[in-house]
Amino acid sequence: MENKVIYVAGLGLIGASLALGIKRDHPDYKILGYNRSDKSRNVALERGIVDEATGDFKVFASQADVIILAVPIKQTIEFIKDLAEMDLKDNVIITDAGSTKREIVEAGEKYLTGKNVRFVGSHPMAGSHKSGAIAADVNLFENAYYIFTPSPLTTAGTIDEMKEILSGLHARFVEIDACEHDRVTSQISHFPHILAASLMEQAGDYACEHEMTNHFAAGAFRDMTRIAESEPGMWTSILLTNQSAVMERIDDFKARLDGVKELIAKGDGDAIWNYFNQARETRKAMRIHKRGGVESAFDIFVDVPDKEDVILEILELLRGISLVNIHINEENREDINGILQISFKCAKDLEHAKKVITEKTNYKVHIN
Ligand code: NAD
Repeated sequence: MENKVIYVAGLGLIGASLALGIKRDHPDYKILGYNRSDKSRNVALERGIVDEATGDFKVFASQADVIILAVPIKQTIEFIKDLAEMDLKDNVIITDAGSTKREIVEAGEKYLTGKNVRFVGSHPMAGSHKSGAIAADVNLFENAYYIFTPSPLTTAGTIDEMKEILSGLHARFVEIDACEHDRVTSQISHFPHILAASLMEQAGDYACEHEMTNHFAAGAFRDMTRIAESEPGMWTSILLTNQSAVMERIDDFKARLDGVKELIAKGDGDAIWNYFNQARETRKAMRIHKRGGVESAFDIFVDVPDKEDVILEILELLRGISLVNIHINEENREDINGILQISFKCAKDLEHAKKVITEKTNYKVHIN
C-alpha cells in the first residue's frame, strides 16, 4: 500500500484524535496539520500527532491525497470554497467531521463538482466536552459510529478507501443520506441538548425563589442535564445548520407535553401509568446503555451491593479481559442492589468473566 499524505485541517479534539487514529494503523503515512492558533498546532507537533503543521490553510492542500476538514461547520464550508479554487492532486479525497451534514454536502457538491476531486461527508459520532489537541485521544472513536453521507462526488471505492485509512480508529462505519442523518440526529442528539439547556435554565430561575432547589438536585436531575455543559459555540452551529428538523422536533415535543399536562389535569391515573410504562418499555427496547450504539450482544449483568470499591473489586477480577463498556444501571437500584452491566468483545471473554465472578464472589451474574 502506497504511503499517503493526509492533511488534517483543524487540530482540535476531533481532528487531532483522527490523526492519532490514522497513525495507529498507518505509521508510514505523512500527516500534515493546519491549525489557526499556535497552541493546538504546537501540542500536535510536540506529541507527534502530525509530522508538520501550518497556520495557513492553503500551504499543504496541494500535497494531500486526503484532506480532512475538522473545523466548525461554517468554516468547513468556507474551506470547501477555498479548496475549489486551489490546485489539488488529481482524485484527492476531501472529507469532513461536521456534526450536521446537509449544508456541508450541498456545499461540497456545489463548489467541487467538475474539479477532479472526490468528496464524502462524514460525521465521527464521538466527542467530549473537552476541546483542542491537548484533549486528543487515539481511542475516542473506538466502537463509535463513523457515518459517511455519500453524494454524487463520492465515486465508487471512495468510502472503502476512507475505511482503510481510518481502520485504526476501530470505529463502526455506516452510510446514510445526509438529510436523513440530520433528521435522526435532530431527534437523538440536537433536541436533547436543547431540552437539557432549557431544563437547566428553568431550574436556575426556580432556584432564585426556592433556594433548596440546588441542594435537592440529585441523580435524576444530574442525568437529565449532563449535556447542558456542552460547548455553546458548537451547539449554536449545529442548530443553525439543522433548523427545520430541530424546530419540527420542538413542536412535536410541545404537543406531547401538552398531552401529559391534560392527563394530569384530568387526574387520569391509568393513562399516566401507561404513559410512563410505554416510555420505560421503549427505552428498554432501544438498548441505549452502551457507548456509540455498540450492540450489547456480549453483556453480563452483575447484581452488586452498594458498597465501597465494589466496582474496583469486579474490575480487578476481570484484569486482562478486554471490556467494551461498563455501565451502572442506577435506575434499577432498589435501595441496596444495583446492576452492573459489562460489555465484552466476544462470547469467550463473556463466559470467562461470568466464571471468574461467580467463582470469586457471591454476586448474582445474569446473561440476557
Ligand atoms: P475543537 O474546538 O476541539 O476544535 C475546533 C478546531 O477548529 C480547532 O482546531 C480551531 O482552531 C479550529 N477553528 C475554529 N474556528 C475556526 C475558524 N474560523 N477558522 C479556522 N479554524 C477554526 O472542536 P472539535 O470538537 O474538534 O470540532 C471540530 C468539528 O468536529 C466540528 O465541525 C464539530 O461539529 C465536529 N464534531 C464534534 C464533536 C464533539 O463532540 N466535539 C463530535 C463529532 C463531530
